Amino acid sequence: MRIAVLSDIHANLPALDAVLTAAGAVDAIWHLGDVVGYGPDPDGVVERLRTAGASGVKGNHDAAAAGGSEIDWFNPEARRAMEWTRATISPRTATWLAALPESVRTGDCTLVHGSPREPTWEYITSVPVARANLGVLEGRIGLHGHTHVPVAFLEEDGRIEVVSPGDGSVLELRGRRGLVNPGSVGQPRDGDPRSSFLVLDTDTDTVSWHRTGYDIDAVQASMREVGLPASLVGRLSVGL
Ligand code: ZN
Repeated sequence: MRIAVLSDIHANLPALDAVLTAAGAVDAIWHLGDVVGYGPDPDGVVERLRTAGASGVKGNHDAAAAGGSEIDWFNPEARRAMEWTRATISPRTATWLAALPESVRTGDCTLVHGSPREPTWEYITSVPVARANLGVLEGRIGLHGHTHVPVAFLEEDGRIEVVSPGDGSVLELRGRRGLVNPGSVGQPRDGDPRSSFLVLDTDTDTVSWHRTGYDIDAVQASMREVGLPASLVGRLSVGL
């Protein structure tokens, strides 16, 4: 089974469409939360995921958009964007976001936004944090986002191997346990502005990461048009 795993789409519809095209024929689409927030088209992104039959989990931005107190923890610009998101989304989108679970266990995989032990908020950015989360991970593979940076932490003989993938990187899991992050579709932060996603192949037990360009200018124009903060517009050009 080939599964496209997408995270942190952040209301960026041209990026999502580019990724869905690049992923091609897959057996399932999983998302790891932060479907909305920052970007200009929350309703469009939710509708696209719905019609594509995607399933997934709730991120901190999704929880805030659905009315949650998570907004109190946002920095001023994220908060401004979230207030715009709340005022913009349809009741149907709000209901869809509110219904997302914090984590999903399916087969060998656990899906979360942040981390297995703290699904909404924790950033897995270091070996100690990865090790602690591998200790509580149910199943073999933890799929997570939130950092907007593609990475994998693999456990072998008590050691943790860190993999920093690029476009086209293929990782053979060989039965190992690990935490795997696809990077961000809608607001990459690893210095490469192209959308990032991964494909999990459960038959070959491999993960491959992919980058795909999209019309950044068009998204930035939409953001300016609705008055989203300039720093959020600018960062899409540089992928930071
Ligand atoms: Zn995010």
